[in-house]
Amino acid sequence: MSYGLNDDQRRLQDLVRRVARERVASRAAAIDASGEYPQDMYDLLKELGLFTLPFPSEYGGSGSTLSACVAIEEVGRVCYNTAYLLIVQWTPFGAVIAGGTEEQKRRYLPGLANGDLRAAFSITEPQSGSDVAGILTRASRCQGGYRINGGKIWCTNASLADFVVVAAKTGDQDRTGSINFFIVERGTPGFVVGRKEEKMGARGVPSHAIFFEDVFVSESQRLGPEGQGFKIVMEALNASRPLIGARAVGLAQGALDHAVSFVKNRKAFGQSVADYQGVRWMLADMAINIEAARGLVYRAAAAADTGVAGEDLATIAAMAKCFATDAAMQVATDAVQLFGASGISNDYPINRYFRDAKVLQIVEGTNQIQRNIIARNLIAD
Ligand SMILES: Cc1cc2nc3c(=O)[nH]c(=O)nc-3n(C[C@H](O)[C@H](O)[C@H](O)COP(=O)(O)OP(=O)(O)OC[C@H]3O[C@@H](n4cnc5c(N)ncnc54)[C@H](O)[C@@H]3O)c2cc1C
Repeated sequence: MSYGLNDDQRRLQDLVRRVARERVASRAAAIDASGEYPQDMYDLLKELGLFTLPFPSEYGGSGSTLSACVAIEEVGRVCYNTAYLLIVQWTPFGAVIAGGTEEQKRRYLPGLANGDLRAAFSITEPQSGSDVAGILTRASRCQGGYRINGGKIWCTNASLADFVVVAAKTGDQDRTGSINFFIVERGTPGFVVGRKEEKMGARGVPSHAIFFEDVFVSESQRLGPEGQGFKIVMEALNASRPLIGARAVGLAQGALDHAVSFVKNRKAFGQSVADYQGVRWMLADMAINIEAARGLVYRAAAAADTGVAGEDLATIAAMAKCFATDAAMQVATDAVQLFGASGISNDYPINRYFRDAKVLQIVEGTNQIQRNIIARNLIAD
């Protein structure tokens, strides 16, 4: 189905689908099993020029969130971790585009777009994930800039990143308005990457604790005017939230692909499992869920691309993220069920989809938080 994709987007879909099948699918199980960073997949995405997709045309991109969603979906259909490489590149990009000065954009965006630079984005701390206002990391004013002190957890890509976009409070106050984002480059004295998290899903892209001990950043490394950076960057994240939904659609489609192929070949009580009506109805419900999720994700992406902003974008983006990732969890759970005991075995691919789907309901704002956003905007006067 086209969903109003233009010719370029359909060509992109065909190309990425083919490359994903021919060059990515065969690597997915090994990346998940070893938990090692897939540098070969990073190089492939770079060679294909896929990192540039959502960047504005002056950086060689299409400027289209919808195009980026199409690519993520096709890669995520066969390998969650390779699709994650795209997301990890695009989250800091959104922050720099939204809040960066011309100098910051010149310094970081071309490298992010062509894959010469890698980045990470860090808000979460041990005592506060959803409750962003509870972060303790502080950037205190000093001569020429700030000194950052504090610690973060779950910073994905930290060990590979050339720079990290870090949330820290300025001033003495404790409100979200006092949160600002700073660009901290690798090798800055006092910036240390700590322990790698052992994860059940998203295993190929590392998440680390990071520490800041009197880390000096100049004024020019702050994103946006002091006190406004938080709002600017969080609004930018609304625009990139459909990408997480697209990764969920891809994951769900991949789980359904595997389930269909399995039940057609598996026999029980003298006939193909696919011939049982109870099984067929499960497959149909999985397909319905996926199509509904895809429609909502593409709609949210199109909204971001056509300049919808503020609460309207926040609501549709939250709906897309929440619905698509819940759908992915449901579809992956049903797919494991259809595999029977093989669904539990590591000899088959399907439990990987199940483990990765769970991650999607938690990252980039848990699905409860997405529901809070939707309800708040419903009730607001
Ligand atoms: C694989 C992975 C990669 C990650 N990468 C990054 C990264 O690169 N950078 C980064 O900053 N963070 C990252 N995170 C962290 C992630 O953003 C947080 O885990 C997430 O925001 C939830 O925070 P928490 O884990 O502290 O849960 P908590 O906020 O402690 O929530 C615990 C539970 O309570 C629920 N809850 C909390 N508040 C409410 C409420 N008001 N209403 C209803 N329910 C509520 C939550 O939904 C959840 O179910 C990553 C996490 C994972 C798993």
